[in-house]
Parts: sequence; C-alpha cells; structure tokens
Amino acid sequence: MRATVEVNLKAIANNISLIKSNTAAEILAVVKADAYGHGLVPVAKCAIASGATWLGVALLEEAQSLRESGITVPIISWLTPPGSDFKRAIELDIDLSIPSLRHLELIVAAGKALGKKPRVHIEVDTGMTRGGLLGEWEEFLIAIKGAEVDVIGFWSHFARADEPNESENISQMQEFEVRLTQLQGAGINPTHIHFANSAATLTNPSSHHNIVRLGISMYGLSPDVNTLGSSQTLELEPAMTLKAEVHLVKRVPAGSPVGYGATEVTSRDTKLAIITMGYSDGIPRNTTNQAGVFVAGAKAPIIGRVSMDQFVVDLGPDSNAKAGDIAEVFGSLGYSIDDWAAAAGTINYEIVTRIASRVPRIYA
Ligand SMILES: *Cc1c(COP(=O)(O)O)cnc(C)c1O
Repeated sequence: MRATVEVNLKAIANNISLIKSNTAAEILAVVKADAYGHGLVPVAKCAIASGATWLGVALLEEAQSLRESGITVPIISWLTPPGSDFKRAIELDIDLSIPSLRHLELIVAAGKALGKKPRVHIEVDTGMTRGGLLGEWEEFLIAIKGAEVDVIGFWSHFARADEPNESENISQMQEFEVRLTQLQGAGINPTHIHFANSAATLTNPSSHHNIVRLGISMYGLSPDVNTLGSSQTLELEPAMTLKAEVHLVKRVPAGSPVGYGATEVTSRDTKLAIITMGYSDGIPRNTTNQAGVFVAGAKAPIIGRVSMDQFVVDLGPDSNAKAGDIAEVFGSLGYSIDDWAAAAGTINYEIVTRIASRVPRIYA
C-alpha cells in the first residue's frame, strides 16, 4: 500500500451523537467536497444512520451522486450558478437555495417546464458579503409573492462564528430576524430556519433555530483551534488518519542537503526516510518541521521541501524504521491534522479536503 486515507465512521457517528445531545435542532450533515475528503456516500449514509435528517452540499453534482446512491432524505445544494441543470435538480427532489432574483426566475422557469414545484430555501446575506440576497431584497419580496415555488427554508451563514465574542455574530442574527419578519410580512412562512455552522452550533445556542449545518465538527475537528480549542477540548474525535509507505531508509552524514533547493541540511549524522506521498496527493509543499510522520514508534519531522510524489523525514540516528514500514502521516499517534495545518500555515479544513482522489479511502 502506497498511501491510504482511513476513515473511522464510528468517530463520525460519535461526533454527531454528541452534538445532537446538545441541541433540539435537526442535524444537517454537510458533505460537500467529498465529505471534506472523507468520501461522499459512505459519510452521508453514516450521518443518516447517526441521526442526521438533512444533507447539505455545495454542488448539484454532489447532490445527484447522493440521490443515485439511493439516499432519500432532503438534500440542499447551495452553490448552483445560473448555468446549472435546475430541471434535473427538481426532478431529483433536491432542495435549491435562492441567493438572487435571477436564481428565483431560473428555478421557477425550470419548475414550470417540468410541471413540478421546486423546493427552495431563501438565502439572505446578513453581513458576510458572500452568498445570499442583499441589494435586491425589496424587489425579491415582491417577486417571491405568488412565485411557483415551495419555500421550505430561510437561511444565512456566519462570517465569524469561530470568534464567538465578535459583535458581527449579534448583528448578523439581528439582520436575519429583520429579514425573516419582512418575508413573513409578505405572506411567506418557511418552516425550516437555519443559520448555524459547526462553530455557531458549539458556541451559540440562540443561533440553532430548526436545523444546524454541521461540517468540520462532524469530522472530529475544531472549527478554530485558537479560539475554540482542539478536538480534545471539544470532545470531538478526528475521523481521518492518513498513512503512507516508507520507500527507502538511508544513513546520511551531518550537513547533507535535502531535497529541491537544498533548503535544509541534516544537523547530525542521521537516518532519513522517503515517504511515498507528495504535493500531488495533497501534502502541502510549504511545511515546517512542525509536521512529519510517526513511524517505528517515534515521530520523524519533515526535512526539506515536499516534492510532487514524495517527501523526506529525519528519523534520527537510532531509528529502527525500514523500507516497507507504514508511516502515519497524520492521526492519533504522532502528528495531528491540526499539526499539519499549523506547519503549512493553513486550517484543518484545507488539510483534509485537499487529499487527492488518487489516495484510496478505506472505512473502519
Ligand atoms: C461548509 C458549510 C457549512 C459547514 O461549515 P463548518 O464550519 O464546516 O461546520 C455550513 N453551511 C454552509 C452554507 C457551508 O457552506
């Protein structure tokens, strides 16, 4: 085995159960981006078995794959540019988000052409200034009256939920209430109100409404290790372990330059191991020795630049590691996903979602 992602579905089930026990809201499992790299269909099925009653994805193609796998729970797709196949979505009973007047028009037209009422969730921009209705709200309030859609939901997204003390969280919630009241004033009464992502679900019960949209926390990772603490602090169990095989072990003298650009040299006589993954597999190229692998019972920090298909770690002079050993790249034994994120100057979300599809996923 060259490299594998091991996904612990039990961990995902436990994370969902824990969060479910702390909220009255329904759970929407966010499985976009191949379930944050954990595998779309297996994770979706596990989430449903663990009590999630909704699924959320960015792309229609993702929603379609879920339907093709036989999943029947409601699925929301929220990133559907005007060129999307809305007819197919409506046919497949996929709930669509409405972030603009243009989307409303296209979705109504698709529903009419099909002779089936689209199920929609009105998305309002309450201060993140990304998706959702903002400038055309007044026109929208007129257009939505009598529009041939079934308004199931009303929703927005937080910009700073991982910083629970920031006042933007309060101003976004106030804006949300104002717009909901205006919508109700126009005679539209959506039954499913949703706002919270993982960070808001964990820190802000007043944001839960009917449904919470869980992404990163379901995978056992903290939305922000600096502000909310680690997985352990939050009692979440990371579900992903990444393993790779050792290609070579070699003894080298002190002062050996390692890798492209000779950016690092060995500080002592030591042993190095070549690990069979690289940036084409999603290993970040710019890492520091805050990351590495766990092999032969010890941590071995990365040394030199990551190449396309391989990287080098410093085993130390006394390591018993040998070619063919399986190294844990990240997991519970050595370096965590958060260690890799820190080493690469990024967030855990990016580390797990960037692991390439050429790395097989296996399930336990
Ligand atoms: C990705 C996403 C989520 C999940 O966010 P987490 O921080 O991973 O919990 C929720 N809602 C929307 C609209 C998203 O795009």
